[in-house]
Amino acid sequence: MNASISILRPGSNNPATHPELTDTLRASVAAKASAALTVLRAALEEFGSAGELTFANSCGAEDMVLTDLILSPALPIEIFSLDTGRLPAETYSLMGKVEQRYDAKLKVFFPDATAVETLVRSHGINAFYDSVELRKACCGVRKMEPLRRALAGKKAWVTGLRAAQSVTRSALPLREMDLANGLAKLNPLSDWSETEVWAYIRINEVPYNALHDQFYPSIGCAPCTRAVALGEDVRAGRWWWEDPASKECGLHVKAS
Ligand code: SF4
Repeated sequence: MNASISILRPGSNNPATHPELTDTLRASVAAKASAALTVLRAALEEFGSAGELTFANSCGAEDMVLTDLILSPALPIEIFSLDTGRLPAETYSLMGKVEQRYDAKLKVFFPDATAVETLVRSHGINAFYDSVELRKACCGVRKMEPLRRALAGKKAWVTGLRAAQSVTRSALPLREMDLANGLAKLNPLSDWSETEVWAYIRINEVPYNALHDQFYPSIGCAPCTRAVALGEDVRAGRWWWEDPASKECGLHVKAS
């Protein structure tokens, strides 16, 4: 067998989700985890007194790191997730694992049933493939409206966004003003690399979505997510039929 050929299969052969845990990497992850915890604790002091701080958990790898950073030391930060109705089975499986691991019930927001029915009856069950406008309309009904309800009355929200995730996130600060939703937005993992995210997950045995091992670095709704090739951008599997500059669902766009 040619030793230069590596055969990649789902699971432990995915180098992205199984980084080599060198001493240097462990030290860098420990330092960044400590810094992220400092951000979370400071946010609690500033915003947490009346439940005005919340964490949007998409169940992606970064958000599992934050879930662990919040729930392992039992920080009193609210955690919520959005169930669009089109999530992969693996995401629901992960939600169950999170509830078991941390002995916590997830606060899940669902889309308005009438709005979904109207959209589907007008444009079809998979209309998001037909145009950017219809894709954004679907994200609007299934994600944006539930997000607005989740953020209502809050003063700040925490996200697992990283600057290196895509061209649309390359200038991501640790803290910013979310003008679209009218509250502060904290990105404690903004300077983390994908390798550091996975090292944290491995070192701390954090539960994660099984699709990540099958070359899905970024996971959203099932029909809008696919696996990527080695070396492709981590967001290349999301809305792959669209131009990269338009590939946000609306949850994290800036108000102009
Ligand atoms: S990601 Fe796809 S299925 Fe999910 S809300 Fe957006 S357009 Fe709809």
